[in-house]
Amino acid sequence: MWNWILIIIVILTISHLIVIFNFNFIINPHEPSVFTKIFPYQFIYNLVFSNIKLNEAYFSLRVDINTSKENVKKHNQGVLELIKIANRCSIPITFSIVADFLPALSDEVIEMIDKGDHEVISHGLNHDDITEQDQLTSIKKSKELLESKFDQKIVGFIGSRGKHDPSTLKAAKKSGIKFISSGYLPHLRYWSFPYPFNKKGVWLLGGSIKSDYQLYEEENKTPEEAINIWKDAIDYRAKKGWYTQLEYHNFSTSEEKLKALEELFEYIEENENLKTITQTELIKEVE
Ligand SMILES: [Zn+2]
Repeated sequence: MWNWILIIIVILTISHLIVIFNFNFIINPHEPSVFTKIFPYQFIYNLVFSNIKLNEAYFSLRVDINTSKENVKKHNQGVLELIKIANRCSIPITFSIVADFLPALSDEVIEMIDKGDHEVISHGLNHDDITEQDQLTSIKKSKELLESKFDQKIVGFIGSRGKHDPSTLKAAKKSGIKFISSGYLPHLRYWSFPYPFNKKGVWLLGGSIKSDYQLYEEENKTPEEAINIWKDAIDYRAKKGWYTQLEYHNFSTSEEKLKALEELFEYIEENENLKTITQTELIKEVE
């Protein structure tokens, strides 16, 4: 009896190791999530069984203006520089904005977001854990506040730190939110999934490669190293026809970082395999 259990455990362990090896070296060598590197089954399921086929390898840039009112004020110049570079390279930005921090945004930033090809999604009413709030009230209110400030309809949401739960999906749907821009559910780590997918009437976007926070703050990469990692990951996903999104929250005005950003944006603009898109437009494509 115990022999059989032992044999089964050994077989399962070897199979799992083979899957991990194949995933990390062949299927997706640029996986940003440690969890998915070790348990890639949900990713593989999305890859194999997604009935969404994208006509193009889409790329979207999501910029989070967040954490606190003070930070929003402090980063005013950095945000303006970033928009200018994106405009020069014709890259539309999906801005995720915390509604409570709206008063800290300068008129100049609001105008530049509104008059460009950029869009706004809700990053919540505040920057606290959405799952610990009255989710419907919080999402609805954030949407109303953002819509009163921007000349756009808000149909996207992202929870603080990407956290949400099944109740968030219900609240989002009731509030007229069509998609959640990456993150994870308690039982589903879809951060880097190749294709958007629909859960209970709400679209969930994965597509993430390593963020600037991961590369600059956690891995201490130089701007030059970061650019090369992004280029490799973006190019790899584009060739596979997968959706890719880069989450960016670095508003440094250092010449080195701005130059690196411009180099990356130029690379994206010139990459024939890629089509840049806002996340709301992407949802229209898959709907
Ligand atoms: Zn945030």
